Amino acid sequence: MTSPNSHRTIIIMKMKKLILGLSILLGTTPAWCAPVETASPDGKLRVSTDIIGGKPVYSVSYNGKTILENSPLGFLSNEGDFSTGMSFVSSEKGTVSKSFDQDKIKKSHIDYNANRLVTTLKNAKGGEVSVEWLVSDNDIAFRYLIPRQGEIGSMVVEKEATGYRFPEQTTVFLTSQSDAMIGWKRTKPSYEEFYITDVPMDTVSEFGHGYTFPALFRVGDDGWALLSETGVDGYYCASHLSDYTDGVYTIAYPMPEENNGNGSASPGIALPGATPWRTITVADNLAPIAETTIPWNVVEPKYDVQHPARPGRGTWSWIVWQDNSMNMEDQKTFIDLAADLGYENILIDAGWDQNIGYDRMPELLGYAREKGVNPLLWYSSSGHWNDIVQSPTNKMDRPIVRKKEMQWLKDNGVQGIKVDFFGGDKQETMRLYEDILSDAADYGIDVIFHGCTLPRGWERMYPNHVGSEAVFASENLIFQQIFCDMEAFHATLHPFIRNSVAIMEYGGTILNHRMSRDNNSGNTRLTGDAFQLATSILFQNPVQNFGLTPNNLTESPADAIAFMKDVPTTWDDVKLIDGYPGRYVVLARRHGDKWYIAGVNALKEPLKLKLDLSSLGLKGDKGTIYADVKGKELKAKELKMKKSSAVPVEIIPNGGMIIVAE
Ligand code: CA
Repeated sequence: MTSPNSHRTIIIMKMKKLILGLSILLGTTPAWCAPVETASPDGKLRVSTDIIGGKPVYSVSYNGKTILENSPLGFLSNEGDFSTGMSFVSSEKGTVSKSFDQDKIKKSHIDYNANRLVTTLKNAKGGEVSVEWLVSDNDIAFRYLIPRQGEIGSMVVEKEATGYRFPEQTTVFLTSQSDAMIGWKRTKPSYEEFYITDVPMDTVSEFGHGYTFPALFRVGDDGWALLSETGVDGYYCASHLSDYTDGVYTIAYPMPEENNGNGSASPGIALPGATPWRTITVADNLAPIAETTIPWNVVEPKYDVQHPARPGRGTWSWIVWQDNSMNMEDQKTFIDLAADLGYENILIDAGWDQNIGYDRMPELLGYAREKGVNPLLWYSSSGHWNDIVQSPTNKMDRPIVRKKEMQWLKDNGVQGIKVDFFGGDKQETMRLYEDILSDAADYGIDVIFHGCTLPRGWERMYPNHVGSEAVFASENLIFQQIFCDMEAFHATLHPFIRNSVAIMEYGGTILNHRMSRDNNSGNTRLTGDAFQLATSILFQNPVQNFGLTPNNLTESPADAIAFMKDVPTTWDDVKLIDGYPGRYVVLARRHGDKWYIAGVNALKEPLKLKLDLSSLGLKGDKGTIYADVKGKELKAKELKMKKSSAVPVEIIPNGGMIIVAE
């Protein structure tokens, strides 16, 4: 610190004391130490911001109940400290209203209305920053707006003070941020870790690096809060939560070791600039948590595409038949399977370039086209950041080679790719995701990411983004029995947490009873057939690559196959009917006039529920129910619903049920 600045700080402090003294005399509160408040349009969700001892803070309440106590704001940068020694400059209030259509997420039409508050603060050196708040009925989004600092037009944000101080009775539903450069061929972190559920806040994370977004908190009986972030692109890194320290979870940046140490862990930002939106979904029940659209409400499409994204169902041999199926004959078999099921796509997974070869791919791709099936091809992202041998490698990491490959894809009629194994949240990696999406859009190609980060608003920002894994996906059922044992438990978490804030390419609905090609070896599936069908509704992604195999056409219940032939992958609306993360969930999704009400049970006991479906506005009093019954083959049955507010259903342990009704 230079002496003129120190001198100025002292003068400001003296002036503050003087003003404070005067204000006490006059009985008024000086503007800079008064809380500045805003609330949602319905008035229930309130945000209050203040400066206490030079530190900016905010608090959140819902229906008069405290959700967040005074929690820190601000950051440290290479251009100064914007977290301490702060004073208030001004505030501005307004409203935001917008309507938009989006065919890849949980709702097709969204009306967003929020109250807006911008508070401008300055630090001891006179550097300014604003905090922008958008508060809608169940969602808060906030970010920092950083103007040019005089001659300074670029900044490195080294560390955020931004944090979340929940009341002490809060319990957490969290998944750990992985260590860097661990796992398969050193590809982590890739958001594939176990959850802790309903445990106290001081539970230490598995790797000591905190927890990933999204993060769910139960504030005792006072409410729920789902934390996440959105609008992250090549201009910032992706963030996560620190471990619980001194009563606070703080925004944390990537580890320097990620991506084999390449790229900086601290984001660089051009000024004027904005940080990503941090979001807090708040409610006194779980429905607004499962139904939120905040990740998409506050972002905009970043480019136009010549071709709208192509939602659809697909087969993929790799998931059950694994590496040995990466050959011409088996791929043709799965193209036939897709055609038999009436599916739009086949996903041709890793190894096609070596086992089939670039020279023979036109034959395979031509075969798919003849059958009316759209091929999607797998790529590794790598790269100089992991040890991946699955190929093709080194085709997606640099623009010259990437565009050449995309031209080849376009020339051969390939309209979609799956790019795997990213392993990091640094700004450099966000730029890679963005570059792949942007180049692919130029060639009319849709993109799925695997071994990847949580997409943060990308469904809307990048029109050709059609899926991201970022979850313990179906492949783990093949790899280890423990994932079969935990399948129902995980399924009850995703609608409230991971899949609420982003599409999730899970690759589910496996009807083989054993996790193998011969259906007679490998891990054992514990869940029922109706459970498997229910996950095709519960797990939302506009492109679904299901785990069905050719033998299922004859060996699985005919009603299950008939259901899977008709299942949609785009949705108009969503309603949470019942559930509790880790125990059970019943979720309704609407496609056109049809509601699909899907439930799964992770409890040890049969679950007897009286479903309140009155919010769905069903026209008739009849539906079709698919439910697991112990020891019996799955059969579709007619369901009479005398009272839509109390429809009795039973879901067996590890079982599922679906009601289809209009
Ligand atoms: Ca994976």
